[in-house]
Amino acid sequence: MTAGRSARVLSPAAPAPAASAALTVQARDLPLDSHVHTDLSPDSDAPIDAYASQAVERDIAEIAITDHVDFGPGMPAYGFTSFDERERVVRDAAERWAPHGLAIRFGVEISYERGHEADIREHLARNAYDYVIGSVHVFSHSPYHAERVAAWTAGRPLAEVVAPYFDEVLAAIRSGLFDTLGHLDFVKRYLVPHVTTAQLAAAPELYEPLLVALVETGTALEVNTSGLRQPPAETYPAGPIVERFAVLGGTAVTAGSDSHRTGSFTSGLEAGYGVVAAAGLGQLAFRRGGSRVGVALPDRFRTRGGVTGAYT
Ligand SMILES: [Zn+2]
Ligand SMILES: [Zn+2]
Repeated sequence: MTAGRSARVLSPAAPAPAASAALTVQARDLPLDSHVHTDLSPDSDAPIDAYASQAVERDIAEIAITDHVDFGPGMPAYGFTSFDERERVVRDAAERWAPHGLAIRFGVEISYERGHEADIREHLARNAYDYVIGSVHVFSHSPYHAERVAAWTAGRPLAEVVAPYFDEVLAAIRSGLFDTLGHLDFVKRYLVPHVTTAQLAAAPELYEPLLVALVETGTALEVNTSGLRQPPAETYPAGPIVERFAVLGGTAVTAGSDSHRTGSFTSGLEAGYGVVAAAGLGQLAFRRGGSRVGVALPDRFRTRGGVTGAYT
């Protein structure tokens, strides 16, 4: 739900906001955007072909359509569409665009809550996706909801402030259900300005159990660039967390724009790839329906003798 219910809705023909346009301009010649929403998500108005035509025009080789699937009545995507409908639309588009050199993968972003884990497990056992992101979102009953977040954060130690979100993320990782854990600290979007990104950066120990669980379960860490165009103005999670993940032995990292509008397609992805490279990792973890594959970062993110952060 990273576009948010209150986000300005753009028609497909409308110009992108200036910030997104600036981020998008540099994003050419990218091998993969692994997190993209279409109008098959309740909070997106973007037709799949609008992304596809942009991708072809800009030499972007591959995209994963990861529309929302929710399992709780009252959650925004609950009952919004069906697996069959989503599969048909995405597979049809994949066939249409393959001759133009674009690979479109059929992915999903599942909202994880512990109470729905059995339903999610059953859904994934029954239905085949190319690629599965599991994410914890912030819904109306959350302490981070706009009406409650000020009271929730006031005078509360940071560890307790983030616990409801991070505990759920930890359970999502430990479930072993997902290729990738989406936007690890998306809660930042709601905490700012009550809790600053600097405060979170000063408490890396809060992230440690999540990173350890990712490494132990082989779940990929996503560098979600939607945070760059939202109040935190940094990726979910920020670079130092990705670097710590690599130090702990994590190698499976990916990057996605989490675009919900045609104007934010691949937005910030150049910076997101940079975060991956700065952590010393040279490829993006992905799955195309079979086993996991590595998608190499473009050469400009690499240096002889290894990948460095010299991507600017
Ligand atoms: Zn999400
Ligand atoms: Zn998303």
